[in-house]
Amino acid sequence: MLERHPLKQILIETREYWDRAATPAAIRENFLRMIQCGTRALGAEVYASETERKLVCHTCKSRFCPSCGHRATELWQADMEAALPTIPYVNINLTMPRELWHIFQQNRHLLHDLPAVGAAAIQHWVRARYGARILVLVVQQTFGGLLTFHPHLHILVSAGGLEESAARWVDRLRFDKCELMRAWRYALIAYMAEALKAGLIKGLTGTEEIKMLFETQYRRPWNIFIGRIMSKAQFLRYAGRYIRRPPIAQYRLQRINDREVEYLAKDTRGKSLVKVRYSNEDFVKTLMEHVPDKFRHSMRYFGLLAPRSKHNTFSGLLAFLRQDKRQRPLRMGWANSLLKHFGVDPLIDSLGQPMVWIGRLEPVSE
Ligand SMILES: [Zn+2]
Repeated sequence: MLERHPLKQILIETREYWDRAATPAAIRENFLRMIQCGTRALGAEVYASETERKLVCHTCKSRFCPSCGHRATELWQADMEAALPTIPYVNINLTMPRELWHIFQQNRHLLHDLPAVGAAAIQHWVRARYGARILVLVVQQTFGGLLTFHPHLHILVSAGGLEESAARWVDRLRFDKCELMRAWRYALIAYMAEALKAGLIKGLTGTEEIKMLFETQYRRPWNIFIGRIMSKAQFLRYAGRYIRRPPIAQYRLQRINDREVEYLAKDTRGKSLVKVRYSNEDFVKTLMEHVPDKFRHSMRYFGLLAPRSKHNTFSGLLAFLRQDKRQRPLRMGWANSLLKHFGVDPLIDSLGQPMVWIGRLEPVSE
């Protein structure tokens, strides 16, 4: 059964299962908006010519939505293209031992702090090693190729940094894998130990067992990955892939029958594709774990990109790098954007007459 939006269809059919009080509000709202995306339920704009009328329904804007996530990412890339200095960048992936995954799975509030912990670890190391500040952008993901719960961070940093004492820009910082791994391991375990002390971690085991787990994990080597230097354009394409990507790739999802789906999952270890069959309910249950609690903030900015320093340091930084501040691109309306990308003007009626906006329809409740 091949469908254009299998995910949406499954959510519609399993609605009784997730659309109830027991489901966390963020998940429920996100799923609901997704199935209402592009329908009258979210409201619409009305356009008319002398003889025809046209409704353009609002979309959900959820990163999780296969149709909206893509456009949101393109807009983000255009904004960042204008805002970021044209310098080389590097990506650093921070992972943690699988023994720690379940703690985040059962204490989801900790996920909120994870990007800040990862960013702080890298920034502290760069400052201690080079006395420099860098640009940091963090994309958090909670899933691996097999849709298992696997929290990790994709961190994109400037390859150079602002050396504060000498007020000069250092073009290339060497990111030492072993030292960065230690900095991250220390930062994460220290953070989790604090959270445990503050009573913020509820586990299946007692406090002593969790403490021992931390100690064991702190003593072993962790895996992190440091990528090659890339240009701003490569960096934005790379970041876009991670921001846009919902946990499941639509084309790898197939419905088998009314009750079951098959997902072609990527086994990251074996680098192979594995067919996994789920009942509709189990599939939705797996998916739910990966709906970010605050889905709008899929990327976070730190260091020279931190919101509070964007105005002060940021234009200063561009001046410093002798790069002009560029205007943010103007947002193209959907009509202009269709015209540009597909050569179709949606505001021309069937007789070739122009249509104009005449009003808005409020969302209709079901
Ligand atoms: Zn949507």
